[in-house]
Amino acid sequence: MDEPIVRAVKLRKYFLATKHGILETLFRRKPLYVHAVDDVDLEIRRGEILALVGESGSGKTTIGRILATLEKPTGGELYFEGERVTPSNVKQVRKRIQMVFQNPMESLDPRMSVRQVVEEPLRALGLSGDERRRRVEDALTAVGLEPSIFNYRRPRDLSGGQRQRVAVARAIVSNPKFIVLDEPTSALDASVQAQVLNLLVELHRAYGFTYLFITHNISVARYIADRVAVMYAGKIVESGDVRSVMSEPRHPYSQALLKSVPTVERRGLEPPTGEVPSLIAPPSGCRFHPRCPYVMDVCRREEPALLGADGVSVACWLYGAKRVESDA
Ligand code: SF4
Repeated sequence: MDEPIVRAVKLRKYFLATKHGILETLFRRKPLYVHAVDDVDLEIRRGEILALVGESGSGKTTIGRILATLEKPTGGELYFEGERVTPSNVKQVRKRIQMVFQNPMESLDPRMSVRQVVEEPLRALGLSGDERRRRVEDALTAVGLEPSIFNYRRPRDLSGGQRQRVAVARAIVSNPKFIVLDEPTSALDASVQAQVLNLLVELHRAYGFTYLFITHNISVARYIADRVAVMYAGKIVESGDVRSVMSEPRHPYSQALLKSVPTVERRGLEPPTGEVPSLIAPPSGCRFHPRCPYVMDVCRREEPALLGADGVSVACWLYGAKRVESDA
């Protein structure tokens, strides 16, 4: 099998929990950390769309930022095209990766024209002015924005959908190997969401881009992705082929997420019951145990490993998981 384009091994990201204040931190002596991403293993194959789904605060965006090399992990290893990402090569690796953010108004510099915004990633590649101009025009055309009309407009003069098209043009203009899309349609109106989603699918088909598509919306994941990874409280709890996971979710959290999606037969939403746990002091054992209807004693004591069979991996004691060895 081909080497995955992105491989994360035991990736961790802990943030200092400042919201409790410096005094509390001092009294406790030991600083408090938010365990935003904890020992995550993840592979993304060349040319695929992997959807990373989960509730808000589950660590999806943090993973996306680490894989886009915009955030340094606290621990673990990251490989890009088979090469370990290190401080000495991270700038070179970053040239092959792009990220599209949720809110284009915040991610696009309002002082720049559309042409300048889209051209920016090309400046690091040392291309001639003519080549840059040609590539910008091609990228704008590919996202459905006529260059002669949009080149000199500013982001504030555009609609939300047009702004996100500009952000996508900026992401594809350097022909990156890997694009992280962080909730790229969730700030848009429903009709515009569908247009931008279809545009992303068309670009993927036409140019063979590899996407990590981050979303809290499981219907969007089902529509766009080849594979899906479900995240809960800083951990991947299930991953696999999108059809298998969506038609027969194994993990109780994936089952609860799918029940929250309205269908023809079931109009009411049934969000997972209970609170999302604190990531400063995550629950022991399986992090989903305080909300799980199938909780057993072992779930409270020991963390299950993410184990695979038939193309689907799941971290749950119901499936005979083995214990995760803790090095804490
Ligand atoms: Fe529920 Fe236990 Fe499985 Fe966690 S390991 S999801 S608590 S059954």
